[in-house]
Order: sequence, then structure tokens, then C-alpha cells
Amino acid sequence: MHTLAGTLPGGYWDGGGTLHSRFELTPLTGREEELLVQATDRLPAELVTEVLSRRVSSVGGLSPVREEVARQLLVGDRQFLLLRLRQATFGDRVRAGLVCPWADCGKRVSVEFSLAQVPVFELADKGPVYTMTLSKAAAEDCDDAGREVRFRLPTGADQEELSEWLSVNEAQALTLLLTRCVRAIGGFSPPGEDRIGALSPLARAEIEERMQELAPGIEQVMEAGCVECGRQFLVPFDVQRFFFGELRVHSDLLYREVHYLAYHYHWSEQEIMAMTRDRRRTYVEVLADEIEKLNDDA
Ligand SMILES: [Zn+2]
Repeated sequence: MHTLAGTLPGGYWDGGGTLHSRFELTPLTGREEELLVQATDRLPAELVTEVLSRRVSSVGGLSPVREEVARQLLVGDRQFLLLRLRQATFGDRVRAGLVCPWADCGKRVSVEFSLAQVPVFELADKGPVYTMTLSKAAAEDCDDAGREVRFRLPTGADQEELSEWLSVNEAQALTLLLTRCVRAIGGFSPPGEDRIGALSPLARAEIEERMQELAPGIEQVMEAGCVECGRQFLVPFDVQRFFFGELRVHSDLLYREVHYLAYHYHWSEQEIMAMTRDRRRTYVEVLADEIEKLNDDA
């Protein structure tokens, strides 16, 4: 099976203090396509964890990649791996139908870009823990030492825990995130929920902003051109939504291919579902050629 290798923009720190960065992954099989299509009742972050642990064959010296490791990967590393998984499974080109946002145009256009061109932000200073000092305005009654904050960056585990809160109460979700990620405030380590709760809004904003500055990941806004009016515009690109959405749109194809191959080759459903889309397509094409030949001969 085609394997894709690379280096995570962030990296995974194991409990022993070793950073694991190189990774290898293989394309989705029909089984994972089905999982992503059918498990609509599960949290997207949980699905990402499961799919990564199934398809990412190694991260540094860790192989296989257990769900616990996939869950502990940084949010940006998980996005980056999804991007590479999409490339390995369906190729590099992305095409999407959009409405041109220029008010005097508003035409439906199809935009296309290459996933290899999506900018990747590397983590320059690879943690695992970071130190910052809050501004005096953010923590008025503290001296310099009291304003020192130590934190780690958000992971898939945090996403899984927070997803439900994010849609209900964003402020509460941030408090939870800070409680999970902040390791120390001043001399207090861990700071405890009360001390997190007592942070001023400015202090919360400063910590959140610093986390976002440091976090590795991929560009989530793409530039596109309108063929109708010739102007440029920006398109939000959420790789997870795009990739999952694309699979759902094409899910009927999966079952048609399985049916077609089972019917003609008498392979079991299990065998066919273990194939990647490329492999299934190749057999479908060979079959189509053969059937055409037969028709020509008749
Ligand atoms: Zn336009």
C-alpha cells in the first residue's frame, strides 16, 4: 500500500521526555470511509482520533500509534495529519463550488487548489511546556514572579473534552481549556480551578493569544480567484469539515463499488472494504474495460 511519510509541525512528547516527529501513514480503506460516514452521532474530534490511530502507522519511535497517542497529539498536528491523509487517499487537488463573495458578482464558481500548497506553521520552540509573563494590567496585584504562567498547548484530548461546551458556552469552554493546559500560575503548580477562575478577562485573553501564536498547524484560509469577475477572495478551509464532508457526499459510491466488485469478482465485503479507494477504482476500471471489450466482441 502507498505510504506517505513526513515530519509533524509540532511533535509528540512521550512521558519520558522524548520528542517524536517523523510519521508514516497509509490511505483510508473502505472501512474508515464507512466509519466517518456512518458515525454521525460521535464527536468529530473522537473520529479524528480513531482514524489517525488506524491509518498513521508510526510517530517517531512509536508504532503502532495507539488511540491514546493520537488523542494526545497537538491540535495542529492532527489537522496536518488529516491533510496528508486526504492527499494520500484522494490526491492533492481540492475542488469546491462556491459563491463569489463580491456583492456585484455573486456568481457560482468552482475553485481549485493543491493541498501541497497549503502553508504549514512549524512549532519553532518545541515545548512541551511554555512560560510567559502576564502584563501588569492583566494581573495588577501580582509581582513579576506572580505573573509567570506555565502552560502546554491544546491537544485532541482537550478537543474531545471541550467540544460539547464550545457550542453551549464559549467562556466556560475556555475556562476548562485553561484548567487543563495551564500548569502553573506564579508559584502555584497546578494552579487549581479556583485560581484559573479568578484570572482577569485580560489575563485569559493573553494566555489564549500566546497559545495561538505558538501552536503549529496549517493555514485555514485559502486565497481563491473568481473566474467570472477576475477578483481574488479568501475562503475558510477547515480540513476536517472538508474531508469528512467530502466522504459523506461520496458515500453512495463506496457501496456501489463494493457491490460492483463483489458481484463480478465474488470477493467478500470484508476484503473489498479493506481496500483503498484507489485500489477499488483500479479494479472497477479494469472491469469496465473488460465489459466494454465483451460488448464490442458480441
Ligand atoms: Zn466574482
